Amino acid sequence: MSAAPFAARLARAHEAMSITGVDALLLSLGADLPWLSGYVAMPLERLTMLVVPAAGSSEQATLVVPALEAPRVTPVPEVFSIRPWGEMEDPVEIVVSLVRRCTGKAPALAISDRAWATFLLQLERALLDATWRTASTVTAPLRAIKDAAEVEALAKAATAADRVAAALLGGEIALVQRTEREVSAELSRRLLEEGNEKVNFAIVGSGPNSASPHHEPTERVIQPREPVVCDFGGTLDGYCSDITRTVFTGEPSRELAKIYGVVAKAQAAGVIAAQVGELCSGVDGAARRVIDEAGFGEYFVHRTGHGIGLEEHEDPYMVAGNSTPLTAGNAFSVEPGIYVPDRYGVRIEDIVVATMRGPRPLNLADHALTVVEA
Ligand code: ZN
Ligand code: ZN
Ligand code: ZN
Repeated sequence: MSAAPFAARLARAHEAMSITGVDALLLSLGADLPWLSGYVAMPLERLTMLVVPAAGSSEQATLVVPALEAPRVTPVPEVFSIRPWGEMEDPVEIVVSLVRRCTGKAPALAISDRAWATFLLQLERALLDATWRTASTVTAPLRAIKDAAEVEALAKAATAADRVAAALLGGEIALVQRTEREVSAELSRRLLEEGNEKVNFAIVGSGPNSASPHHEPTERVIQPREPVVCDFGGTLDGYCSDITRTVFTGEPSRELAKIYGVVAKAQAAGVIAAQVGELCSGVDGAARRVIDEAGFGEYFVHRTGHGIGLEEHEDPYMVAGNSTPLTAGNAFSVEPGIYVPDRYGVRIEDIVVATMRGPRPLNLADHALTVVEA
């Protein structure tokens, strides 16, 4: 990726910092740091922290990074300089002096939500006049609006996941007489073959296990004539995928086929509702209404969707009560489901981007009821 997106993100962060009255951002573990710099901190005991002064400061953003990890950093000189620290130095002291240089008395500081408490407590002791808040108060609304490079990356990740879904729907992945764990391992292997650098989850819920939305794959052997919910995703070039398809190992009962049709209709309604200006709660409501009206409302037990990007779950959340309007560039899942406890469940999930020309689904794998093995 070129420096341009990072420079544009820094400009947006500066604007948000001035609106929220933040004097410096301190980014460590978590997705804010790669969003702004392209660098993912190692989750180790040595401190990595990007100190981002407010706009107008004469200081540039500085990445304080262990000297032995500095070779991993791809420099983006337009956005930050690099301050490697050696084994005999105290990185907290370095951060404190950078903060003092770019802020006045009683600085308002915003630190990564996932920064380690051990560093925050040391920083608090060294900066007694500072006030603290989480970085997400500045960055979450910015990160929820994907730029062109991010939409591109999400589309690429979704296409890779689609190819695995197509193999599932096409019957290339054997199900009957295999355990959920074996199928999960095959989904994971295929995600890696499609270019993902890691697999984040590969849920396989068969028969009664399909009624558990976050089921962990077990040693249960998949039987003929039952639903199998497969929900999987990985990370490709830093961006996440997340897709669910429910397939049947034989003709489903009439009731189950009806449930599948209701979920498919609810999913489509959620996607169509995803117009710029619609409320997040409205997307949830559009999907939920279809399921309610079909009489299965009590079995739709989770929110309709979550934002996705550098993290699998991030803003915005498609849930009742979230009255944030959709903005062009919001990327999120639409994943309604019906789960009848101890019997069966169906979920269909795609990632969608809100655009000025209407909702753009990134996953295009088939939604039709699919019997993979008679
Ligand atoms: Zn979930
Ligand atoms: Zn999912
Ligand atoms: Zn999801």
